[in-house]
Amino acid sequence: MRLPILVYHKIDRIPPGSRYPKNYVTPEQFAAQLAFLARHGYTSISFLDYLAYRRGERRLPRRVIILTFDDGYRLTRTIALPLMRQYGFGATIFLVTAYVGKTNLWDADEIQEPLLDASDIRDMQETGIEFGSQTATHAHLAALRPVEVLRELRTSREQLGALLGKPVAVLSYPYGEYTQDTLQFARDSGYEAGVTVRERMNRDATDLLELRRIPITSLTSPGRFAWDLFRLRWLHGA
Ligand SMILES: [Zn+2]
Repeated sequence: MRLPILVYHKIDRIPPGSRYPKNYVTPEQFAAQLAFLARHGYTSISFLDYLAYRRGERRLPRRVIILTFDDGYRLTRTIALPLMRQYGFGATIFLVTAYVGKTNLWDADEIQEPLLDASDIRDMQETGIEFGSQTATHAHLAALRPVEVLRELRTSREQLGALLGKPVAVLSYPYGEYTQDTLQFARDSGYEAGVTVRERMNRDATDLLELRRIPITSLTSPGRFAWDLFRLRWLHGA
């Protein structure tokens, strides 16, 4: 089975003065991408579905995909979710637990956007949205001392688990940065899967703690979007 996982940040028009305009995908672009996926028979699944499949406990539809959102912006609820619902897709959102209900304080030089708060998160979980951890403070894990890495991974997993009322299975490495030690610490902290940013399909043999995600940005054209899915499918099998 080949699994593409996409990663988005903000679905919105690019505000003037943004330092990282690539992190935006306009609502029109996003709707066109969802329409493309629907037209080509993709079904979105959760990481829990995928983990059960990898354990041999369940089957999956023929063409599956996971849509993910990093950082947990409030825009994900107000703009992205209604569009996803329209096309019948679900999503997994990675939260920076120390900043829930605040803004993207870890990138102080970027325009500050509100992040989902606790009641947003609980409401969304009830409608089937899945949540994962993106550490406590959006840390550069590869640059921290082991004790600090463990603190980031454990406190975020504990706090998010308490908020969601269930164990947190998936971790998103901020900035896609990790080392072999990070993987071990993630495992030790109880994560079953980890996602990075790398333009590749996932196969049945892909390390669950190094799942690859295809970044979708404001520069992703419709042709590029289709190319990423089909070229990668062809290169890595059906
Ligand atoms: Zn991020």
